[in-house]
Amino acid sequence: MRFPCVTINLKKIEHNAEKLVKWCSERQIEVMAVTKGICGLDKVVRTFIKGGAKKLGDSRIENIVSLKQAGISIPIYLLRIPMLSEVEDVVRWADGSLNSEVKAIEALSAAAKTLGKKHKVILMVEAGDLREGVMPENVLDTVSEIIKLSNIEFEGIGTNLGCYGGVKASYDNMKLLVDLATDIEQTFGIEVKTISGGNSSTLMLLKQGGLPKGITQFRLGEGILLGNDPSTSRPLPDTYQDAILLKAEVIEVKTKPSYPIGEIGLDAFGNKPVFEDKGLMRRAIVALGKQDCRIEGLTPVDKSIDILGASSDHLLLDVTKNKDIKVGSIVEFNLSYGALLGLMTSKYVKKYII
Ligand SMILES: *Cc1c(COP(=O)(O)O)cnc(C)c1O
Repeated sequence: MRFPCVTINLKKIEHNAEKLVKWCSERQIEVMAVTKGICGLDKVVRTFIKGGAKKLGDSRIENIVSLKQAGISIPIYLLRIPMLSEVEDVVRWADGSLNSEVKAIEALSAAAKTLGKKHKVILMVEAGDLREGVMPENVLDTVSEIIKLSNIEFEGIGTNLGCYGGVKASYDNMKLLVDLATDIEQTFGIEVKTISGGNSSTLMLLKQGGLPKGITQFRLGEGILLGNDPSTSRPLPDTYQDAILLKAEVIEVKTKPSYPIGEIGLDAFGNKPVFEDKGLMRRAIVALGKQDCRIEGLTPVDKSIDILGASSDHLLLDVTKNKDIKVGSIVEFNLSYGALLGLMTSKYVKKYII
């Protein structure tokens, strides 16, 4: 094994997928498993499918291309609303996409026409988190534009919460979506097949029985991979939190002061660091840094180890309470979703499927 590396335990991921699919299917909700957290690694994606996911979603077209090329056959949707410059690839590789701009949907339709295809569209609705989506009062007008397009199938509506604004999923913002779908059906006499009500941060609302009837789909990434409820950062019941771990190697262990010696200016990232003088400290350096991931998203599995900070290539640990750590030791960390995304895209971090 080479370090730093991320280990991905397929059994645990399949268990998580199975559990969450079960929660959802008990309420007639299908799961679109979100693959961006593992950069579309097809071996991992196959465990999502074994676990019961019926559709896949990714925010990057590159991941969708590699999944299709690896022979994944269930429908894959582009989650980030498309760039005008990528519509041709989107239509070629993705079965559908989430959208909020009529101009982009028109471009998708034109590209689909050229390729002799139909492209499915889920219209995103702004429900308060202030990322993508049309304002609720503009939904009917937008749908009337979409259904005119020859090579677009209007599949339904969706919303995204808990991402930019941190707004929690609630009965009210989910009901808004269900009511809008009813309006669309009555106004245009069409079926709204998909009401894509949320992501991992909506799971606890479902579990606690607070979800209104009518939501048909959840898009789940973090919940499956890390067993975490993003809205509270608490574990989801009956799931593993350690399906994916980071392992990194210690390259120096020395007892040093805890307070730097000399006048303190700016650090390597332009911040003025603040230190508490705790006297002498047994310190370890791990070969990993800010270039590889969001350090705030790491938690040592061994509770006797504390993270002090990091520069671009060095992570500093307080190992005063852990006498076993020495040069060459491997330290394991639990990951936040943010840390995982960085680690998976870093070419310096090896990925092992176990
Ligand atoms: C990433 C993403 C998701 C998955 O969110 P999780 O919190 O990881 O479940 C769902 N929808 C959209 C639009 C996304 O970009």
